[in-house]
Amino acid sequence: MFKNRPQCSVCNKEIQANEEIFVKMRYPEAKGMTEIKAFIQYQGKIICEECNK
Ligand SMILES: [Zn+2]
Repeated sequence: MFKNRPQCSVCNKEIQANEEIFVKMRYPEAKGMTEIKAFIQYQGKIICEECNK
């Protein structure tokens, strides 16, 4: 799903496989899941479960 190794945007911890994450992002104006996936990759901020608490 991610090209680069995803990191938590708060603690910079590397996200492990199957780890539960939260993504903060703007909802894209364009329609469809394809655009949403692209937005997460390029604009989404990944937050690990620990930092989200
Ligand atoms: Zn974190």
